[in-house]
Amino acid sequence: MFSFKHTLFVVFVVSFAEVLVGQALYMPLNIRKAYEKQTRSLDGRPGPKYWQNRAEYRMDVSADLPTRKLSGSATIRYFNQSPDTLTMIRLKLAHDLYKKNGQRAYDLNPDAITDGVQVPQVRLAGKPVDAKALHQHSTFLDVKLDNPLPPGQSLELGVDWSYIAPPAKGAPREGVYDSTTWFVPYWYPQVAVYDDLHGWADAPYNGLQEMYNDFSDYEVRITVPANIMVWATGVWQNPEEVLTPDFAGRFSMAQRMNAVVKIFSPQDYASGKKFFRTTGDTHTFVYKAGQVPDFAFAFSSYYLWDATATVVDATTGRRAFVSAAYNPKSEDYYQVCRAAADGLNLMSRWLPGYPYPYPCMTVFNGSGGMEFPMMCNNGSTHPNSPVSLTVHETAHTYFPFMMGINEQYYAWMDEGWAAFFDVVVTDSLAGKSQGRLRNYQDFAGTENDMPPMTPSRHLSNPAYRVASYNRAQAAYFNLYQYLGYERFHRCMVEYMNRWSGKHPQPFDFFHTWNEASGENLDWFWKPWFFDWGYPDLAVAEVGPNTVTIENTGTMPMTVAGEIAYQDGTKEPFRHPASVWKNGNRTFVFRPATDKKVEKVTLGDPQVSDTVKANNTWPR
Ligand SMILES: [Zn+2]
Repeated sequence: MFSFKHTLFVVFVVSFAEVLVGQALYMPLNIRKAYEKQTRSLDGRPGPKYWQNRAEYRMDVSADLPTRKLSGSATIRYFNQSPDTLTMIRLKLAHDLYKKNGQRAYDLNPDAITDGVQVPQVRLAGKPVDAKALHQHSTFLDVKLDNPLPPGQSLELGVDWSYIAPPAKGAPREGVYDSTTWFVPYWYPQVAVYDDLHGWADAPYNGLQEMYNDFSDYEVRITVPANIMVWATGVWQNPEEVLTPDFAGRFSMAQRMNAVVKIFSPQDYASGKKFFRTTGDTHTFVYKAGQVPDFAFAFSSYYLWDATATVVDATTGRRAFVSAAYNPKSEDYYQVCRAAADGLNLMSRWLPGYPYPYPCMTVFNGSGGMEFPMMCNNGSTHPNSPVSLTVHETAHTYFPFMMGINEQYYAWMDEGWAAFFDVVVTDSLAGKSQGRLRNYQDFAGTENDMPPMTPSRHLSNPAYRVASYNRAQAAYFNLYQYLGYERFHRCMVEYMNRWSGKHPQPFDFFHTWNEASGENLDWFWKPWFFDWGYPDLAVAEVGPNTVTIENTGTMPMTVAGEIAYQDGTKEPFRHPASVWKNGNRTFVFRPATDKKVEKVTLGDPQVSDTVKANNTWPR
């Protein structure tokens, strides 16, 4: 028995070491441990011992509009699927961001400063927990367990809480827009993630870095004054109970329609039509969502409501129900429902080319641009088109929601993708270049251009933004241009199939793409994601029949530009980033004709090139 085990152990250690010897990518020790424990596999798949925890939330919440007080009560069943015995449960209280001594990434509007989250009672299996077992710190509430929670067991936590909702001005991603219009995220005590890489998540919410949540089930009852409509994550369970038959009929019809249905129109408001059945002071909306990493809601007494349904799975014909809820004064939001539906349709069948995984999506006219599962809080972009922002925030459905990315560590694994999809999908919908290309070259090579593998929790702006959005978007464009649609899409789908509903970390991504592309892409990953440096090409020399490009930067990147001949004709050229894969510093190509060259210019809007002065010949 002993020798058998011993042999297995030796074989495992040798094979692991061999793979690591062949690794060009630096791997932090805590991530190596996951491979030793077999929670992850070096081929990029979840390991045979992969695990993650989950919870079931049943919550009642109500909003008192005059005082801006939100009060809730939750029953949370938490399942410990880890191999560890847990001696505490960590809850996130994101609204402690607003307390007087809160740690914040930037200044808040003084009106948004509150006393944070009040938690009058926590219950374990129905019994009140002694105050000594509770530790509220930064944006967490740790509940110490007298009886630790063994692997494979669950427990039931009850929590009552309240906070004052911040005014939207100067509050990040949320807030009270006016006396009856709120967007409400980060609102409930959510169990922090306990995972195989970091144990209990310990980066507090400081208003900058975004999501990292387990996949859980939600049943939420939201009580508001009887003249208010509530939109939320998940499927609305009681529309017939809340809406009058006329509006319940429109709501139901819109779920089958390709065209946009005006559920609440300006005419309905003008004619004083009765939307709601309720005769009392308040009414309650019930929403349910399964296997989602978060739950948000929003409400208003006067917003317009457009809705439609779009096919997101061609094989089954499944539709997603898409809504826009907006201020009647908005100058662009009448386009948002269409844009969201067309964007989800195109993303489902083209890029990323994976069926939208949820039953619905609501884009709510608040401010800024922020994603939650099945909900977005987006401001008006007038006079610019709302398409790019709508596509960006709805694209986040894939990353970080369907793929449970840890944005406290790896924000580039979701923001870079959303920034990439928002450009390719928006450009395709618009039929012209209209997506938001992030400006990477103006930051590239400065001290604020940090390798994206730097944990996001340690970055502040502008470094956080440059690493997560700008540099990652630029990298994904170069990768797409090299792999081409078919190979790129194959890698993407393989990655999503492997990690949908799970928590991939960077090496799961790198290794999966290495395997699915049929090529070790470490020559690409290392300079773009691990190393200091910047992308820069120069036209070094032009001979009678040759053009020599020098890689004066550090990154493999697309060689694209134009040759102008002395006879007045022009010819574009394009060579993928792989021309640099052997570490060569120069690349020589022959122009397509023998005509005399007058000028060579490097440049492509989707290829960041830091130093512009060396992009032309003659200099
Ligand atoms: Zn984003």
